Amino acid sequence: MKAIVLIMDGLGDLPNAKGQTPLSAASKPNMDELAGQGQAGLYSSIARGVIPGSDTSHLNIFGYDYREYYPGRGPLEALGAGIELKPGDIAFRANFASVKGGKIIDRRAGRLPTATSRKLARYVEKSRIDGVTVQFMNTVEHRGVLLFRGKGLGAEVSGTDPHVLGPLGVSKPLAPGAKNKKTADVLNKFTKSAMKKLEGAGETRGSRVPANAIIARGAGAYAVVPSMEDRYRISAACVGGGALYKGVAKYVGMDVLEVEGATGDKKTNLKAKADAAAAALKDHDYVFVHVKATDNFSHDGNFGGKKEIIEKVDELLVSKLMEEEAVFVITGDHSTPVERRSHSGHPTPLLISGRGVRKDTVSRFDEMACMSGGLCHVVGTGLMDIVLNEMNKAKMIGT
Ligand SMILES: [Zn+2]
Repeated sequence: MKAIVLIMDGLGDLPNAKGQTPLSAASKPNMDELAGQGQAGLYSSIARGVIPGSDTSHLNIFGYDYREYYPGRGPLEALGAGIELKPGDIAFRANFASVKGGKIIDRRAGRLPTATSRKLARYVEKSRIDGVTVQFMNTVEHRGVLLFRGKGLGAEVSGTDPHVLGPLGVSKPLAPGAKNKKTADVLNKFTKSAMKKLEGAGETRGSRVPANAIIARGAGAYAVVPSMEDRYRISAACVGGGALYKGVAKYVGMDVLEVEGATGDKKTNLKAKADAAAAALKDHDYVFVHVKATDNFSHDGNFGGKKEIIEKVDELLVSKLMEEEAVFVITGDHSTPVERRSHSGHPTPLLISGRGVRKDTVSRFDEMACMSGGLCHVVGTGLMDIVLNEMNKAKMIGT
């Protein structure tokens, strides 16, 4: 059996005053039908009550224990941006930002349009500092990736992005050793030189929030890990838009498909994703489909928006993929309650449906109904074990 694993980012939520969550309030006949045909439960991607990041949670979803395999956010973003990494490379997440008098006044430079940041990136894209090749690549809007390639670099350094408005950060080693100090020095020198180069750039000069700096965070060193094919003897593909998710998928050896209109945001083309996933299933055993917009609406505190995107996913994506001969898994990587506008440690609803899957009594897919499902509470890398078992690809332990 093959598997389709649909992750709606930040899917889980908390009931509002009417006792409804975006998922329970949504009209989603196809997800409910799948829940009725198969088994439901709850999923905590790291541990019960622990708040997962989207990076660590996805590693665990694919069965890669984040405590062993997490390389830091930077390398995952870089892989997702299509940058080929070499072992030992140090990568950061980076943003265009607005700095005035040494202080960050806008961490996103007014959410720079992608076309503008692409033009600006040309001013700073490649340099050589202390024998290290430094490369900046813009991705979506103000975001980008900063890559250091050279000898003797460490990844245990703080970034220059303080995550809040105020003084521009200065990178410092977080552990002893010349390697970490070298990385911090190169980052600080790059930050200064980028500011000089961007000062002369015309694209946003005169703006109230000029893109005149690049701030970096999430340093990590890249290393090669065994692929899903190596570990599970299955071929896997990824259909997603967001760089991070494509990066995690690439890191674990999936074929990352470029899907026209899969943007990793609210405007994503769900129909194109459904078509791409159905096509990928022809020559892959495991197809990971990622939808980011649920999480975006949660971070905006938008209950109605989250409900509507769930309805669209049901109508345009689930309806098509449920026709495929495959184990169908639907869950989230974590909860992002709209009321909190941030990730939480609550479990997210989970369903597994398909030929041969035992049927329980749950016939609705939402946070409350799933509590009484036959899968009970699945935790961490255990989800991959369950999926492999339903695919009849699990390995026996012992003899
Ligand atoms: Zn997430």
